[in-house]
Amino acid sequence: MVSPASSANSSTTQKGSRAPSKHDNEGWLLPEEARSSLSELFKQLKNTVELHVVTDSDPQKMFNDVTLQFAQDISRLSEHITLTQHILGDEFSQKYEVHHSPSILFTPEKYNIRFTGAPLGEEGKAFVETVLLISLGVSSLSATSKTILGELTEPRHIRVFTSPGCPYCPGQFMNAVKAAIESPKLIRAECINSDEFPDLSRQYGVGSVPHTVFSKEYSRVGLLPQERFCLELLMLRDAEEVLREQTQSAEPEEEGKVYDLIILGAGPAGLTAAIYAKRSGLDAIVLENSVIGGQVIATPVVENYPGFKSVGGIALVEILTAHTREYSNIRENQLIDDVTIGDLIEVHTPERKYAAKSLIFATGTKWRSLNVEGEQKYFGTGVTHCASCDGYMFRGKHVIMIGGGNSALTDALHLKKLGIDVSIVHRRDTLRAEKALQDALNREQIPVIFNTVIEKIYGNETNVEGVTLKDVNSGEITDHACDGVFIAIGMDPNSQLAEKIGAELNPDKTIHVDTAMRTNIPRVYAAGDVNGGIRQIVTAVSDGAVAAMSAFEDLQHPYWTSEKYE
Ligand code: NAP
Repeated sequence: MVSPASSANSSTTQKGSRAPSKHDNEGWLLPEEARSSLSELFKQLKNTVELHVVTDSDPQKMFNDVTLQFAQDISRLSEHITLTQHILGDEFSQKYEVHHSPSILFTPEKYNIRFTGAPLGEEGKAFVETVLLISLGVSSLSATSKTILGELTEPRHIRVFTSPGCPYCPGQFMNAVKAAIESPKLIRAECINSDEFPDLSRQYGVGSVPHTVFSKEYSRVGLLPQERFCLELLMLRDAEEVLREQTQSAEPEEEGKVYDLIILGAGPAGLTAAIYAKRSGLDAIVLENSVIGGQVIATPVVENYPGFKSVGGIALVEILTAHTREYSNIRENQLIDDVTIGDLIEVHTPERKYAAKSLIFATGTKWRSLNVEGEQKYFGTGVTHCASCDGYMFRGKHVIMIGGGNSALTDALHLKKLGIDVSIVHRRDTLRAEKALQDALNREQIPVIFNTVIEKIYGNETNVEGVTLKDVNSGEITDHACDGVFIAIGMDPNSQLAEKIGAELNPDKTIHVDTAMRTNIPRVYAAGDVNGGIRQIVTAVSDGAVAAMSAFEDLQHPYWTSEKYE
C-alpha cells in the first residue's frame, strides 16, 4: 500500500520503478490479466504523463486507499507515467483548486483534466484513454470538432457526473477530455463519481448519469456524439437543430472508398455480421450512432447466452467487441442521419458520407416511454430506463420498477443487489418474464403490485416523491411514495431510416425480412432486435451471421438481376 505524504506541504513522487512481474500479485490492486494488457497498451506511450493524487487523512474513506493503489499500479506499468501524492490543503491542491478527496490530476502544468473520486468501474476505461492521449499529445477530435472548438473564447469547466456501472459515462467524459486536450488553456474536464459525492450530485441536480454540467445555466443528461458535444460546449444550448442545418448546407463529399458492406449498429447482431462478412472476404465497416453494445451494455447480468452461466452485459460486450475488432473497423459516435439508395448505397453523417454495395440495418431498439404526467419533468432526476447507470444513486431508497418482462425483472434484481428497496408495478395479473427470473424475484422477496398502472409521477421542484397508481380492476386510485421510477416497458425498433428508403415494415414498425434477413430492397438486410421476434442476444447474433452470409451470397450472384426477380 502507498503511504500518503506526511506533512501539509509535502508530496511524494514515484517513478514507474519496478517492472511488473507476471507471477507477482503482491502489492497490486489490478489483476494480472489487466496488468498484462495495460503494459502492452502503454508500449505506445511517448511523452511522460504525470499523475497527481490528492487525498485527505479521513480513515473512513476507503476510496482514498483504492485510488492511490490504482494510480500506483498504473504508474508501475510504464516508465512514461509518474505518480506524485499530495495531501488535501497543501500548496499543490491550493494552486490547482482541488477541494475533494480523492482527486487525480493529469500533467497539471499543461492540462486541466481530473477525476474527482476513484476511477474504478467503467470510468477506469476513460482513465486509461486519458493517459494514452496525453502521452501522445493528441486530442483525436475530428476536424469538425476542432473547428467548432476553435471558436471558443471563454473558459469552460465541464463536470461529467458518472457512476461505476454506467456504460455510457466513459464516452461522455472522453468527449470532455478530448476538448480539454485540444484547448488546454480554456477547458477544464472533471469526472465526478456521483456515487462517492452525493452532496455534489445533489448540488448539481444529478439524478441520472452521465450528467454533464457545461455551465451554471446549461446541463444535460446522456452521451452525445462528439461534434454535438463540442457544439453544445460552445453554444451552451441543445445543438441538434444547428447540426441538422449544417448537414443540410454541407457540400457533398467527393467519392471515396466503396465498401462491400456497411453495417449500421454495433450491438450483438452488427458485431457478429462484421465477423462473418470479413471472414467471407467482404470489406465491411460497422457504424454506430452511440457506443458499442446495444441494449446488452445496459443489461446488468446475462444468464442465457450459451457458454456463459452468468456474465455482466458490459463484460460480454467487451468480449464480442475484441473478437470483432480482430476482423473489422467499428466507428462509434457516427450520427447517421440519412441513407440513400442508388447504384451505390450511401450513409450520411454530419461529418462525411460512406458508400457501399450493400447494407445491414442492425440498429436495434430504443426504450419505450410511459407517456404519463411527470415522466418528462423528472426524466434524469428520478425517472430513468437504465438500472446499470443510475441504480447506485438510489441505494438505501425505495423505487418503483414498471413492467413485467425480462428487462423489468433483470433490472429489479440488480437494484435489489445494490441495496435498493424495489417494488414492481405491472399492469396485468401475470408476469411476462421467463420463469427463472420469476423464481429469482420470489427468492429475493421483491414485491409485485399486479393489475396496476401509473397515472402520474409527482414530486417537488427537482425530485420524485411518489407515483399515483390505479387498480385496473377496481379503478381505485392511491398514492405510493418512492424516490425513483425505473421504466422497463419494452422497446421500439429503430427503423425510421429503413422506412425512409422504402423498406417494408411490420405493423409494430419492426423491419420485415425473409429467412435470409433480406428486406424487400435488393442489397439491404436487417438483423437483430430491429426485426422483432423474441429479441434475445443469441437470436441477434444468429440474424447477424445470416444477414452477412446473404450479403456475401447476393454480391456474388445478384438475384435482383435475374429474370425470375424481374
Ligand atoms: P417486453 O418483453 O416487451 O415486456 C414489456 C413489459 O412492459 C410487459 O410486461 C408489458 O406488459 C409492459 N408494458 C408495455 N407497455 C406498457 C405500458 N404502456 N404501461 C405499463 N406496462 C407496459 O420488453 P422487455 O422486458 O424490455 O424485453 C424486450 C425483449 O428483450 C424481450 O424479447 C425480452 O425477452 C428480451 N430480454 C431478454 C432478457 C433475458 O433473456 N434475460 C433480458 C432483457 C430483455 P404486458 O405483459 O401486459 O404486455
